[in-house]
Amino acid sequence: MAMKLRILGSSSSGNCALLSAGRSHVLIDAGLGINTIRRALESCSLALEKIDAVFLTHDHSDHTGALANFKKYAHIPVFANELTAREVKKRLKHTLNWKLFESGQSWGFGELQVQSFCVPHDAQDSVGFIFEHEKKRLGWITDLGYVTELVRDKVRDLDALALESNYEPHLLTHSDRPLALKTRIKGRHGHLSNEQAFEFLDGIDMPRCKHVYLIHVSRECNTVQDALSRFNQGALARNFKVEVVDPFTVLTASVLEIE
Ligand SMILES: [Zn+2]
Ligand SMILES: [Zn+2]
Repeated sequence: MAMKLRILGSSSSGNCALLSAGRSHVLIDAGLGINTIRRALESCSLALEKIDAVFLTHDHSDHTGALANFKKYAHIPVFANELTAREVKKRLKHTLNWKLFESGQSWGFGELQVQSFCVPHDAQDSVGFIFEHEKKRLGWITDLGYVTELVRDKVRDLDALALESNYEPHLLTHSDRPLALKTRIKGRHGHLSNEQAFEFLDGIDMPRCKHVYLIHVSRECNTVQDALSRFNQGALARNFKVEVVDPFTVLTASVLEIE
C-alpha cells in the first residue's frame, strides 16, 4: 500500500504532518495546538491516541508545542535525539515515552524505515528525516540555514520531498521583526529563503521525485505566491510538481500518495 502524507499544518507558527504507511500512522513534529491536531486527525478518521509514534526534527516550539499537552498520550513513542529530548523535557510537567536516536542513525519502526541526518539550524541538534516504505522514500527537510552537501546527497533518490521555503528577503527586511531576529533567520543556522529553496531544487537531480511540498512558509515574511513565483517562471526543467503549503490553514494540502 502506498505511503500517504497529509500535512496537517506548516508555517513558522506550527508544524505537524501525518504519515501513514500500511498500518503505521506517525506524526512528523507536533507543533500545532493539541485540539487542532486532534481535529485534523479526526477528519482523517484517526484518533490521536492511536498514533504509533511522533518523530521530532528539533526542539523549537513550532515543532514540539503540543507535547506540553500530551499527558494523556504519554504511551505514544516520541523519537528524538538526546539534546532535543533534553530541551523539550525542560518545558514539560509530565513524562513522555521517549525513544532516543543518534543523529545520522537509521532504524525500522512499524512499516517504516527511518533515516535521520543533521541540518544546520540554531536548535540543540536539528535533523531531517527520510521515511521509506515499500521502496518509496519521502524526505522531510525543514529549518535549515543553508543546504549542506549532506542534504544534497540525501535527496537524490527521493520519490517526494517536503522542503522549507521560509521567507522572501524583502518582506523579511521590511517586517516589524527585531533586527536580531532578522539576522538570525537569514543566517547560516536560520531558515531557507524562497531563493535558496529554488536554487537548490533547480540545481539538483532528483530523477525519481514526483512531488515537492514547500513548507514552513512564514506568515509575516512570505506568501504562497512569492514562494511559487520562481517556479512559475518555468526556469526549472523538472519532473516534479511543486505545491506550497498555505501557512494560514490546516489540512489544505492534498493527500499525497507516494507510490
Ligand atoms: Zn520551525
Ligand atoms: Zn526551528
